[in-house]
Amino acid sequence: MTRERDDPPLRPPRALLLDLDGTLLDDGWHRVAITRACREIAGALPGLDADRLAEANAGAWDDYWPRIEHRWMLGRLSGADVRREVWRRTLRTCGFEDGSLALRAAETFYGLCRDAYRLYDDVEGLVAAARRADISLAVITNGAPDDQREKLRTLGIEDWFGAIVISGEIGVGKPDPAVFRRALQGLGVEAGAAWHVGDLLGADVAGANAAGVGSVWLNRPGASRGEADPVPDLEVRSLSEVVRRLAVERLIHREVEDPPDPATSSGQPDEAHDPGV
Ligand SMILES: [Mg+2]
Repeated sequence: MTRERDDPPLRPPRALLLDLDGTLLDDGWHRVAITRACREIAGALPGLDADRLAEANAGAWDDYWPRIEHRWMLGRLSGADVRREVWRRTLRTCGFEDGSLALRAAETFYGLCRDAYRLYDDVEGLVAAARRADISLAVITNGAPDDQREKLRTLGIEDWFGAIVISGEIGVGKPDPAVFRRALQGLGVEAGAAWHVGDLLGADVAGANAAGVGSVWLNRPGASRGEADPVPDLEVRSLSEVVRRLAVERLIHREVEDPPDPATSSGQPDEAHDPGV
C-alpha cells in the first residue's frame, strides 16, 4: 500500500465510487465461459474440434473487439450484438455459415458467462466496512447497458449502491469526469469527500484525478506504472488494503480534529478512537 500523490491529501471519504470489471467482478469469467462454450458447441457439431473452435473464437475477438469496443462502451452496440457477430465470425472460420447457429452459440456462451460471474473474495469485506463507517457506495462502469446491468443483477449486488452509472446509459465513459460527477450527484456528495477505486490507470485513475475525487489504483497483478501514466493518490494490491487505509485515515483525522488529552491518554488506541472500519 503506497501513497502516491501528496496534493491534495486523502481525507476519510463519505463515499466510495467503485469500478465493476476487474475491481468487484473477477476478470476470470471470460476465459472460463469461452472454454466451456467451445466444448459444448463443438460437441453438438460433427467434425468440429473444441480447440479449433477456441482458436477461431480468439481470432474473432482479437480482430473485432478493438474496432467496436468504443461503440459498445457508449451503448451504440449492445453486448448481444457483439456476441452474435463474434460467433458468426468464429463459426464462419470453421466452415459453418448459418446465422441461426451463430445466434444459438452466442446464447450458449452468454449463459455460461452468467454462470461464471464471481465477485473477488475481498469485495464483501470492503462493503461491510463501508456500511459500518456510514460510507455510501456507487458503481461506475464502462460498457453496454445490457451487459453491465446483467452483471450487477446476476451478482445480486444492485442494492449495494446509492448510484449506478453505466457509460452506455449516459453516452459518455470514464475517464470523462462527467461520469464521476453523475455518481457524486446521485449520492449527494462533493468530489473532495469521495474516493474512486478502480483497476485501470487510463480510465479510473485519470478520470478520478480529473474529477477531483481521491484516486485509488487497484493493482491486483502488481503491474508497474510508466512515467507517462496517470498518478494515483493511493495504490493498493487488494480491496482489503483499502479497508485498512480507510481505518488509518479515519484514525488520523479524528485525532487531528479531536486530539487526545495528554493528561489522560495512555498512548494506546481506545474506544473513542476506534476507527470504526
Ligand atoms: Mg475495471
